[in-house]
Amino acid sequence: MRGGRRKGAGRPAVRRLTTALHSLDVRELRRAGRLVANMRESVEYVYGGSKVHAVIATQATGCRFGGERVWFVCQACGRRVSKLYLGAGLGCRRCLGLAYPSQRKNAVRRGWDKQRKIEARLAPDGEWNGWQKPKGMHWRTFSNLVREIRTLESARDAALLIEAVRSGLV
Ligand SMILES: [Zn+2]
Repeated sequence: MRGGRRKGAGRPAVRRLTTALHSLDVRELRRAGRLVANMRESVEYVYGGSKVHAVIATQATGCRFGGERVWFVCQACGRRVSKLYLGAGLGCRRCLGLAYPSQRKNAVRRGWDKQRKIEARLAPDGEWNGWQKPKGMHWRTFSNLVREIRTLESARDAALLIEAVRSGLV
């Protein structure tokens, strides 16, 4: 018999996740109408034959023009992320150490360098400010920078997906 924990016993229900999901994306959850701000939910899924218990936490950040954006909070590093990966633990891409194909590594590193520079311009005080335009920056410059960051992010997502398919994770 493995472990002594009894299910139920006054604890909140644990939602079972399917490994077929491979990753959780806030955008997909939002489209499905299942994204809740500031939630903290216990989940479990099976990875490599073992059961993994994890917590999904979300956090909402306000937008200047009304509305809010909901993020996952990686429980390992505390970063706000739009995707969580289901591995031996549940976490962001960096915490799970998901590798990129070696021939793409340099391109990925250059992408990160570029992104860090853009982030430094968007958040001059060193703190994430919810994609708000810094004082004194032209709107056109601002929207170009935001668009560039999104492009860099989708390029990395694509590289990651290719690697995942190669290693048989998907
Ligand atoms: Zn993390």
